[in-house]
Amino acid sequence: MTLDTRTAEALALLRRIADDHPPAMLATSFGAEDQVLTDLVARHGLRIRLFTIDTGRLPDETHALVERTRERYGLPIDVYVPDTRELQNLVREHGVNAFYRSVELRRRCCAVRKSAPLARALVAKGAWITGMRRAQSVTRTDVPVEDHDAVHGLPKFNPLAAWGDDGVWAYVRAHGVPTNELHERGYPSIGCAPCTRAVAPGEDTRAGRWWWENPENRECGLHRRPVVIPVREASRVLSEASP
Ligand code: SF4
Repeated sequence: MTLDTRTAEALALLRRIADDHPPAMLATSFGAEDQVLTDLVARHGLRIRLFTIDTGRLPDETHALVERTRERYGLPIDVYVPDTRELQNLVREHGVNAFYRSVELRRRCCAVRKSAPLARALVAKGAWITGMRRAQSVTRTDVPVEDHDAVHGLPKFNPLAAWGDDGVWAYVRAHGVPTNELHERGYPSIGCAPCTRAVAPGEDTRAGRWWWENPENRECGLHRRPVVIPVREASRVLSEASP
């Protein structure tokens, strides 16, 4: 499929989301794919609002890109931050860099700094849109284009789910889309500064995220999906739980 065809499909989906699910929100962490979606929203004047989560641990290069994106597109970007009290409690109990000590503590940090602000961002919204792609990692190979986010109770769309790295970067080059300087220094996927590092050529796109953990753990909880229990197993669990 050509880039023009893929772009036309993504644009048609974005238009449908804007029409059918107001207010529709684009969640951006300023990755290259998020920037592609931002460019489509701005270029075509779509009624889709942008928001981001500033965890308090983002690299300077990402903050610089936020400003360049504002200047380039002139779009308002809602910024959600962690709750002060929750953050104080986390740091008081476990220190500022607890995430290196265990998966559980890393998930708690992500819950306070990312998932809780996300939940606030999605209150009373019609749908949310992300730049998630199947090619990004072993944890994303089944990302659907259209989904239902049962955790937040609203439709979720991933218009670039089937796009490869080549398509994303071809779009970036074709439209002069601003991207994070860290991409040029070997960071294909960029999150919080202490939890992201450069990857070697040929490594998984998200291999530099939480690199000290097993690959299957490397998600932050923003894209949780309910655990599906097979019917037979569910019956066994229910019968065992019955008094
Ligand atoms: Fe905390 Fe790292 Fe998660 Fe950022 S990516 S919220 S610093 S554990």
